[in-house]
Amino acid sequence: MKTPPFNQFVERLRGVLARLSRQQIATVRDVVAAFAAHSLCLDLIEQHGRRHPGCPHCHCDDFYRHGYAAGLQRYRCRACGRTYNALTNTPLACLRLREKWLPYLECMLDSKTVRKSADTVGIHRNTSFRWRHRILAGARQKRPAQLQGIVEADETFILESQKGSRNLTRPARRRGGHAGTRGITKQHDCILVARDRAGNTLDWVTGRGPVSAQQVDRCLRPVLGADVVLVTDGAKAYRSFSRDAGITHKPLNQRAGMRIDGPYHLQGVNGYHSRFKGWLARFRGVASRYLPNYLGWYRALDTRSIETPGQLLVAAIVTKPAMPAC
Ligand SMILES: [Zn+2]
Repeated sequence: MKTPPFNQFVERLRGVLARLSRQQIATVRDVVAAFAAHSLCLDLIEQHGRRHPGCPHCHCDDFYRHGYAAGLQRYRCRACGRTYNALTNTPLACLRLREKWLPYLECMLDSKTVRKSADTVGIHRNTSFRWRHRILAGARQKRPAQLQGIVEADETFILESQKGSRNLTRPARRRGGHAGTRGITKQHDCILVARDRAGNTLDWVTGRGPVSAQQVDRCLRPVLGADVVLVTDGAKAYRSFSRDAGITHKPLNQRAGMRIDGPYHLQGVNGYHSRFKGWLARFRGVASRYLPNYLGWYRALDTRSIETPGQLLVAAIVTKPAMPAC
């Protein structure tokens, strides 16, 4: 019986491996692992890329297969003549070095800094920064649609930061870390977090300074079911929102020492705030404009909604209708 060529190759490979040292075998193993990661990455992209196979440029359904480019199936549209693949119009379009994506995503699950991740996978730190925010731009959109039952909502504040910006819109702070005046001011970014007792969590950056009733309404109204009991501190914004939206509200006057009332407390959401800030400290300050990305990243880690590099990749591949062409 004739042996198929691939089986012959495997047999020859066994012979070669038998003559190698342990160190050489470890090197071969790393090479094979890198190829396997690349292959898995391409499979995930093809499986979970753009859901609609039609042309992302003109939305025409008349297309044909047009070879492969960098391991991905390429299509050409008969109407506009342009080509595309499973990543076109997603945040990951036009990023190269796909063989390093899964190892890089592993670094993100380990909460490594831009520089540490760059060193680990062997890319430039500017590439590492670009990849991080492209991945998070998609992944942060993986959010629970609704919160149920007892929902705790509260704000936390982080000093506004223009890290990395060439043109500051205010005088630079000395040593970075302090606002000019005490208390919550327009120098602080307000983060609103709502969390139900099942651990489903949603977050919003509402802007600078304290949250208003309109902002609470815009954030919470679409995600609270009718049977929700909303637990908050005594801030007026929540009271006025709950009254307008017809939602059962349980305000806790924390300033007067009222922290728990039967099953109602804010320990879930306040614990989340403090874990988020503790986690964020490793990045030594993040620019305000990237805060939603970091919130999405932390939410995925804390709620364990994303646990493997492959899941993070799939979450990052969301179709963005208005992505610029490249
Ligand atoms: Zn087209």
